[in-house]
Amino acid sequence: MGPGPSNVPSRVLQAMSTPLIGHLDPAFIEIMKETQDLLRYAFRTENRWTIPVSGTGSAAMEAAFTNLVEPGDVVLVPTNGYFGARMDSMARRAGGEVVYVHAPWGEPLDPDDVRAAFAMHRPAVFGFVHAETSTGALQPHVPDLTAIAHEHGALVIADTVTSLGGVELRVDEWEIDVAYSGGQKCLSCSPGASPLTLNETAFEKVRNRAETVRSWYLDVGLLESYWGDDRSYHHTAPITAIYGLREALRLVAEEGIEERWSRHLRIAGALKAGVQAMGLEMNADDEFWLPSLNAVRIPEGSDAKALCRHLLLTHGIEIAGGLGELAGKIIRIGCMGHSAQPRNVLALLPALGDGFARQGITLDVGAGLDAVSEALRAG
Ligand SMILES: *Cc1c(COP(=O)(O)O)cnc(C)c1O
Repeated sequence: MGPGPSNVPSRVLQAMSTPLIGHLDPAFIEIMKETQDLLRYAFRTENRWTIPVSGTGSAAMEAAFTNLVEPGDVVLVPTNGYFGARMDSMARRAGGEVVYVHAPWGEPLDPDDVRAAFAMHRPAVFGFVHAETSTGALQPHVPDLTAIAHEHGALVIADTVTSLGGVELRVDEWEIDVAYSGGQKCLSCSPGASPLTLNETAFEKVRNRAETVRSWYLDVGLLESYWGDDRSYHHTAPITAIYGLREALRLVAEEGIEERWSRHLRIAGALKAGVQAMGLEMNADDEFWLPSLNAVRIPEGSDAKALCRHLLLTHGIEIAGGLGELAGKIIRIGCMGHSAQPRNVLALLPALGDGFARQGITLDVGAGLDAVSEALRAG
């Protein structure tokens, strides 16, 4: 129940022990097609250009920035979390001139601030983090943000690493030009093959670049030869990771994407009710609470590091502390994919109570468990 990797279901683990076949084997090409279709389903997109990038979420992220950002492009990025800062570094390395839209850590961007930043800087590319894993803040108002960008003729890159397969995300309806994600968060798969989708407008921009993409490995124009109609060699696909991703996405489709979003709301909602009834406070307002990553404020004088260590070593439960401005102030509890289950929430609360008790902080575990049961019955 940390910020990823989440628990991997046995069907995915089994799929990953399937014997390897060639990356151009006709059977593997069928698997590639199915994986792409399933990715379109999970992203809620018709984008032809939808693939798993070889590498972890950061590779899909770098593919997005390195292809979309041309040297000299003004790129607008957020300052409200760790992954916004990573967008900054990647956009810079791609030759972009980075400008910022500010919000405190733990809060989402305000569309008015985004509008003001567009008026001041006229960026060509705007990146935002849909689910900021470092702070537990969900970015609401996504269609407002993309509308502002498109009024200014800019392209939008969305980090959906901790939202894809966990919280409502509609790439086409919300007019997101590029979205990337990872396997080990709400898809509950191994890291190693990471979803990326680009619409026609974004792909057009890549096609019309004056300078070739600075990364050979992540150049989507070159990757097109393997993932597009040609199916010719570019690099060897991570076969095993793709077996796993396909199976994880099949589980998403079997459950139904909307049902999966509501399961995350239901289970994380019970978790939230439980920690609140125990006497703790959520860091995010309800308006931008992120079900897949719950940031919980810890009482004055408590030691987050010692707490996380105790939970892991004594209770076998992984959670994480805060980062940056929120270090020592919050704990981060993931409720992602296969880990979003009642039994995990019911095991976590007493473990938290025990961990805090060891630091001389008494919480009402009974009230917490009652609130969890009640929320699960109601939900
Ligand atoms: C985990 C994460 C990433 C990076 O993914 P890796 O798989 O660690 O490379 C990027 N953005 C967000 C929001 C994440 O949570």
